[in-house]
Amino acid sequence: MIYDVIICFETHVELKTQTKLFCDCKVAYDAPANSRICPVCTGQPGALPVLNKKAVEFAIRAGLALNCTINHKSRFARKNYFYPDLPKGYQISQYELPFCENGFLEITSDDGNSKKVGIKRIHLEEDAGKLVHSSESLDESDYSLVDYNRSSVPLLEIVCDHDQNPLRSVREARAYLEKMRQTLRYIGISDCMLEKGQFRNDVNVSIRPKGEKTFGNRAEIKNMSSFRFITEALEYEIKRQTEILDAGGCIDQETRLFDESVKTTFPMRSKENAPDYRYFPDPDLVEVEIDREFISLVEKEIPELPEQKLKRIMEQFNIPKGDAIILTKDKAVSDFFGACAPLCDDKRRLSNWIIKELFRLLNNSSAKIEDCTVSPENFSHLINLIARGEITEGIARAVLEEMFQTGKKPESIIDGKGLRPLSDIRSLGPILDEVMAENQKVVEKISAGDTKPMDFLIGQVMRKSKGKADARKVKELVQQRLEISL
Ligand SMILES: [Zn+2]
Repeated sequence: MIYDVIICFETHVELKTQTKLFCDCKVAYDAPANSRICPVCTGQPGALPVLNKKAVEFAIRAGLALNCTINHKSRFARKNYFYPDLPKGYQISQYELPFCENGFLEITSDDGNSKKVGIKRIHLEEDAGKLVHSSESLDESDYSLVDYNRSSVPLLEIVCDHDQNPLRSVREARAYLEKMRQTLRYIGISDCMLEKGQFRNDVNVSIRPKGEKTFGNRAEIKNMSSFRFITEALEYEIKRQTEILDAGGCIDQETRLFDESVKTTFPMRSKENAPDYRYFPDPDLVEVEIDREFISLVEKEIPELPEQKLKRIMEQFNIPKGDAIILTKDKAVSDFFGACAPLCDDKRRLSNWIIKELFRLLNNSSAKIEDCTVSPENFSHLINLIARGEITEGIARAVLEEMFQTGKKPESIIDGKGLRPLSDIRSLGPILDEVMAENQKVVEKISAGDTKPMDFLIGQVMRKSKGKADARKVKELVQQRLEISL
């Protein structure tokens, strides 16, 4: 039988605030265990939470970027459950009245059209601490350690809407995740580093016979960071559910985990399957009121989003779509291009040199463009030198490599190493004489009107001058010497 697939995400994003959600403790990823904690984030009796305004601002920024309605009243609730990394015995989250509701994220769907994937809600909550199990430590004995540094770090939860254009394939799911991560990085609320757990996903997947309207029972796969593992888990899960339905069976509504080593999902133990969180409004926190003025202040902070930037780069600078996608994929790259563009006449050459040459150097040294020693001013200057024919592409490559190592200006590298092209007859003449003497047959052919070996002759001059000869000047010179016109 043919089935429809429905996929929904709950995405947890750690926000890039200086301090935690309800206390002044610094958010730090590499700090020694339990060095960023206080009575509030470790749930000591009598300690009271105070809401971090920046986190609220970030939540609203996400809501606006994801086309949501911003609720003017919002409320925190206690989500009760017991786990050793949750010292209070409850997590401060939101249940009724989240900050943002009813938005969408635009992706390219399987049929190539744009698709607005519904977002049901965005709410703010605190992260839990972290357990370090003895199997992960050097000591083999059986115990677990708990690190509360992450406890109460602000977490944004973005929930897909089952009823509004849900994702219909693994490919769409992947496109959604990539676009979501890109958007959140653009608006500067999170670095969304997968390996640091800053962008974690629970995913629901269900299937139903094609054409049917009611949803099938869904399986939820918990807590995944890697996009590759999410893709593999979804592929496995769709195949598993298809086989069960084809054999006349029923899908259990349950929570499953993905085992990366064998690439299969398996059910979590049943007592963890149906939690009753007994949500109730947190009496320690007042209702949050958000006025229009605050929303419009936040709105001003939202930069140009990837979609708009892509369109603008294509239209304004005549960059082909494929290249424009690469340039806008990461905000830091698009900022670099944006800083160079007004300084360069030849935008296509600029784009090509970022994508081919600068990316190659960055990849080879595993560096990021934002930490790159080549400034947009110096990079643009180099591009202009090539565009004006003042240096060859080959020399420009060598200059860029040195700029990358030292951060120096292109001019000072070119002068320091004597890389200015040879374009005067005094330096080119003797080299050309030598090449012509060594290749008399070729010279005869050209004199007789066969211009094909011209490039060969120029190539020989380039080789002898170690790439420094100005090819156009060489060509002119050959024409003069042989008294021919091309
Ligand atoms: Zn604290």
